[in-house]
Amino acid sequence: MSGRRLFRHARILTLAGSAEARRGPAMRELAVIEDGAMVTEGGRIAWVGADADLPTGLVIDDVHELEGRVIMPAFVDSHTHLVWGGDRRDEMQMRLEGADYEAIFAAGGGILSSVARTRALDEDALFEQSAARLARMRRCGTTAFEIKSGYGLDLETELRQLRVARRLGEMQGVRVRTTCLTAHAVPEEARADETARAAFVDRILDEVLPAVAAEQLADFCDVFCDRGAFTVEETRRVLARAAELGIPPRLHANEFGHTGGAKLAAEVGARSADHLLHLDAEERAALREAGVIATLLPGTSLVLAKPFADGRAMVDDGLAVAVATDCNPGSCPMENLGLVLALACHGCRLLPAEAICAVTHNAAVSLDLADERGRLEPGLAADFLELDTDDERDLVYHAGSPFLRRVWAAGSLVPR
Ligand SMILES: [Zn+2]
Repeated sequence: MSGRRLFRHARILTLAGSAEARRGPAMRELAVIEDGAMVTEGGRIAWVGADADLPTGLVIDDVHELEGRVIMPAFVDSHTHLVWGGDRRDEMQMRLEGADYEAIFAAGGGILSSVARTRALDEDALFEQSAARLARMRRCGTTAFEIKSGYGLDLETELRQLRVARRLGEMQGVRVRTTCLTAHAVPEEARADETARAAFVDRILDEVLPAVAAEQLADFCDVFCDRGAFTVEETRRVLARAAELGIPPRLHANEFGHTGGAKLAAEVGARSADHLLHLDAEERAALREAGVIATLLPGTSLVLAKPFADGRAMVDDGLAVAVATDCNPGSCPMENLGLVLALACHGCRLLPAEAICAVTHNAAVSLDLADERGRLEPGLAADFLELDTDDERDLVYHAGSPFLRRVWAAGSLVPR
C-alpha cells in the first residue's frame, strides 16, 4: 500500500503562488489547471499538474475519475464563535415578529443570555454541543476554523471555552486557531457603573490574558470595538496587553459606524479587521497600507437585515479581503460558508473568483495558516472539495444548492 490517491481529469483551482494575502485584482487569479490531476499521500498533497504530465510509474492505491468536475481548496472559516451553550431560536422568532432590540434584551435575550447558558455547561457538555455544529460545518466544506471565546466573560468560563476549542482542533482532519475575545460584551455584574466597567477591563488585563497565555490557549486576541461594546481606548489597552504576552490582534470593527475600530486595526497591525459595514475611502486606505485583511461577514447583514459591507470598493481599492460565517448564536447562526460565499457576491458585490480566494487562501493567511491551507500545492494539507459541476460559479449562481460532491480533510473523506 502506497497510501496514494489520484484524482484525474478535474478542473483544479490551485490558487498556487505566493503565500502572501492576495490584494485587489490578484484575488481573481485562481491558477486554474484545466484537465488537471492531483496526487495525495499521508494527508498531504504530493503532486498537482496537468493530467498529461502525470509522472509515470507512480504506485497508486485509489484512482478517482472527476470527468471535468471542479476541485478546489476546502473552506477556511476565519471568524466563528462556535463554542457556546444553548440556542436563541426564540429571539430570532421575536425579531421576525417585529420585536426591537430593547424588547429582546428585556426578555433575557442578546449576548448575555448566551453567556448565562455557556456558564451553565461543564466542559464535556460544551464540547458536545460545539462538536455537533462543527460536524455540520465540515459537511458544508469547512476544514479549518477560527474559534473565539467571549460567552464566558469570566476567567473560568473563558478558559473552558478555549479549552473546548483546542479539543475540537485535536479531532482528525480539523484545524483550529483560537482567539481570546473576553472583551466581547460587558457582563451583567460589571454594568452597575463606570468603576465596575473599568474593573472588568482591568481583570482582562491582569487575570484573563495572563492565564490564557500561561496555558497557551489563544493564537489571537480580539475585541468587539464598537458602539455599545468597547471603546477605542479600552480596545487599545487590551490589545497592548495581549501583544506583551505574545498574542497577536484581530478586531471586530466598524459594524455600527465609523467608530475608530478600523483605524485602530491599522494602527496596531491587526491580522484582520472584521464586519466593516461602515468604511470610507480613508479607512480603506489605512487598512491597505497596514496590510490588514478586511473580513466580510455577510451572513450577519442578512440575518439582522442590515446593509452589506462594500466588498467591491475594498477590492477595487487594493485591499486583501476574506469572507467568514461569523457563526454565533444570535446575529448569525449560519454554518454554511459556501452559502456565505454566495452572499459575499450578491450582497457585498465580490466576483465569484474573488469570493473563492476570500474563503480559502486569504482566510488562511489571516489565521497564519497559509503554509498549510488555502491552496492546492505539494506539501500543503490534502483539504479540498470536489464540486458536482465543471463551473465553480455555480456556488454563487445556485447559491445554497448541494454542489459539494465530496469533502476531503487531511486526505480522508469527511462523513456526510
Ligand atoms: Zn463575531
